[in-house]
Amino acid sequence: MLSDWRTVDGIKYPYKQVYQLNGRNVIETSVEDVNVNPPLGADVFAIPEPYRAGAPKMAAYGKVPYQWVLRRPFIGTLLDSDAVLYDPQASSGLRLADVAPGVSHVQGGSHNSLIVEMDKFLVVFDAPIGEAQSKWTMDAASKKYPGKPFKYVVLTHHHMDHSSGIRIYAAAGATVVVGQGNADFFKKVLTSPDSLGADSPKKKINPNVVEVAGSYIITDGKRDVGAYLIENPHAAGYLMGYVHDVKLGFVTDLWSPGRDPLPPRLNPGLAAVVNGVKNWNLEPERFAGGHGSTGSFPDLLKVAAATN
Ligand SMILES: [Zn+2]
Repeated sequence: MLSDWRTVDGIKYPYKQVYQLNGRNVIETSVEDVNVNPPLGADVFAIPEPYRAGAPKMAAYGKVPYQWVLRRPFIGTLLDSDAVLYDPQASSGLRLADVAPGVSHVQGGSHNSLIVEMDKFLVVFDAPIGEAQSKWTMDAASKKYPGKPFKYVVLTHHHMDHSSGIRIYAAAGATVVVGQGNADFFKKVLTSPDSLGADSPKKKINPNVVEVAGSYIITDGKRDVGAYLIENPHAAGYLMGYVHDVKLGFVTDLWSPGRDPLPPRLNPGLAAVVNGVKNWNLEPERFAGGHGSTGSFPDLLKVAAATN
């Protein structure tokens, strides 16, 4: 939405620029100074040789990754490459990190998930980016935990970058566990046609979606894996994950341990983690994150104590 048009060197230019999504302002830009056709050196637009040499080839028809390339700057996780899952300049690819017995953290990309092994099946927290990352995760899990299918996929929250890979899990029969108020949206996601030809299911499925208004425990009689609804400033209907026997929590976007150093005082996201643990009487030693790696919960409690 362009406004505040002013005349500069004989042309009209909008000094106020608002980007709206579904009628909501998401980016507001106020321009202070406009120079029309300022003199620029001839070499300004020359592409340096290292970039020219490393430039990706044209994508094949139907395999165009640009939707994610465009989404990334919008959500603040720009990759300066056409890679969808990880930055090839900074990472050698996705990998499973063993963070506890029978618990694997998918790391190496910009977005993580957490796989928990049960007696006959697997639970995964979050399904980030899209089908490609879910496929990688399912392949890696089938090698690491052979014969155990994903029976549950638990979403911490509805944001597209952490949930867009759920369709392939649901198509394979997994129950989708979401926070309060999210079920209708995800039923719609899971039953919508695959109009871009990129996502499962190819056939219509009748998805099993569980909406959690308090807590939800998945158990095999030995290991309890919980999803706990918590108050937070990031998303409505947010679930915190917790693997009881190994005292490991899982949160996304509220705390990104290993990526973001702990601040001297709690910010609203970190406070939500501390309060959620307290309200549900959990006793975590560590948290794994939907971004980053793992971090010490006692260290976070020290920050909480310093905050007062
Ligand atoms: Zn988010």
